[in-house]
Amino acid sequence: MLFSELANTFDRLERTGGRLEMTAILADFFRGADPSGLRDSVYLSQGRLHPEYFPQELGMADKLVLRSISMAAAKPYDEVEREWVRAGDPGTVAESLIKGGGQTTLFSEPLTLGRVMSGLGEIEMAEGKDSQDRKMKKLFLLLRDAGPAESKYLCRIVTGRMRVGAGAMTVLEALAEAFSSKEARADVERAYNITCDMGLVAETIASGGIEAVRAMRVSVGSPIKVMLAERLPSVGQIVERMGGRCAMEYKYDGIRVQAHIGREVKLYSRRLEDLTPNFPDVAEELRRACLAKEAIVEGECVAVDGSGAMLPFQTVTHRRKKHGMDKAVEDYPVRMFMFDMLYRDGEDLTVRPLPERRAALEGAFGPSDKVGLTSMEIVEDAAAGERFFSTALAARCEGVMAKSLKPESVYRAGSRGFLWIKYKKDYEEALSDTFDLAVVGAFYGMGKRAGKYGALLMAAYDHEAGRYCTVCKLGTGFDDSFLDGLPSMMEGHASREKPHDVDAQMEPDAWFVPAVVLEVTAAEISLSPIHTAASSSLGGGGLGLRFPRFTGRVRDDKGPEQCTTAAEILEMYEERGGGA
Ligand code: ATP
Repeated sequence: MLFSELANTFDRLERTGGRLEMTAILADFFRGADPSGLRDSVYLSQGRLHPEYFPQELGMADKLVLRSISMAAAKPYDEVEREWVRAGDPGTVAESLIKGGGQTTLFSEPLTLGRVMSGLGEIEMAEGKDSQDRKMKKLFLLLRDAGPAESKYLCRIVTGRMRVGAGAMTVLEALAEAFSSKEARADVERAYNITCDMGLVAETIASGGIEAVRAMRVSVGSPIKVMLAERLPSVGQIVERMGGRCAMEYKYDGIRVQAHIGREVKLYSRRLEDLTPNFPDVAEELRRACLAKEAIVEGECVAVDGSGAMLPFQTVTHRRKKHGMDKAVEDYPVRMFMFDMLYRDGEDLTVRPLPERRAALEGAFGPSDKVGLTSMEIVEDAAAGERFFSTALAARCEGVMAKSLKPESVYRAGSRGFLWIKYKKDYEEALSDTFDLAVVGAFYGMGKRAGKYGALLMAAYDHEAGRYCTVCKLGTGFDDSFLDGLPSMMEGHASREKPHDVDAQMEPDAWFVPAVVLEVTAAEISLSPIHTAASSSLGGGGLGLRFPRFTGRVRDDKGPEQCTTAAEILEMYEERGGGA
């Protein structure tokens, strides 16, 4: 398959705003594509070479890419750089300067998808002495045989700017439409949520149809998208919503870990990062204490003191660092509180109701002082729930998690629903709960903050549309050191224009591609003429947060797609009687 077929499709997607049209364009492409290129096409549509749980290290600096462009376009470097200063993105520069398409030299070869993947793979693997030079030359060899559209996307992929506006949900919908029917979308989504590998799902549906997709199962080594909880404002409402009976567990304030236990143990974060180097002691103990050959379990890692008492969240964050881990392992002991079991020795437990999964978990581990189960109680009325909540707080937890025990209480990978409902101490105060929002823009400050960023434009994620919608301008809760560090924190996410997947009416001084997530509190949710969250459901203005305040917590455990969603904010707004 020629890379140009894919690049032209990306071009069409980029020029389209509507989700339906994007789905149709992609479905068309998938139907006509050479099946052997389908998997890679799907990865590239997300700017990736591998499934998302595989760390990707392409990240070429803009100036290095400009050197490749200069060679491929046979233009002086200065001219290329001037163009870049004007356009801001090496992809746009490449598109305007590279007119080739394989006809430029005697040595050119057709730019197939296979060549692109292996070339990008070599760029990713290049390390050590001269690696920058080798990356630059490798990219030049690809650009030399590329036309304008192909050049544009090659440069965007290597600089981490590949955003054609078609998020995961659009791609999955298009796969369902291309190889089965619109109705098959739920099955396709589930397959993706239990494998985190869109390319594998694409290949499976193309070769074996929807039946093969339905037969896909969880397996040790490929992480599963985590199940998340809804919220309700009181324990009484939670017990009622659960039908008068549910399990209640402590809600531990630590780091969520999904452990894949085989011969070796691998730990994943909820963002699918590899946390094994951060918790080697937990990994070792899980293997030792686990009675099964293979298992996938989930739990929360919490820092504990010498007597086993739980310590605040800030303590366990020492284990999220990249360096000095040996010392952190020694200085900050942790305990893992397991709350779910998703797989055991060939059996996919995600399709089983919670009581069966909990029983499996209880039977799968021998005694250990480092890994154990969450505290849990079956609750049958609000008073018992309140008592359990107080015990949880006394044990220094942040609240409780109520979980359905009904036959439908399966593990819903990747979804937030009322099978799990959280209740936290903060809910007893002011506006319940916090919002995790993506930074999409910044405004320069005034007075004391002149010359620095003084406020940020924050957005929630619209999961259905795959877009980020603004909800507030955030200027409170920052201390000087945070503001001083902002430019370096946002470096690498700057965008010359409003990013393709951001819906905003405000015009900040700087735009950012959604990447950094901050925790924010607010006094109220209200209708807003300027913010865009949930505007499609409200048929007019959107929802905004009043008196937003940064809590001081950067949610580096969350990717932008795991932000609070526009639908959640709408739900909270309606719960409060439409802002009244
Ligand atoms: P929060 O900011 O409240 O942690 P969140 O968006 O990160 O919210 P939620 O779905 O609201 O995630 O809460 C679920 C999180 O609570 C889980 O991801 C997990 O990290 C943590 N947790 C703590 N104890 C439990 C438990 N017993 N069962 C499930 N999750 C738990």
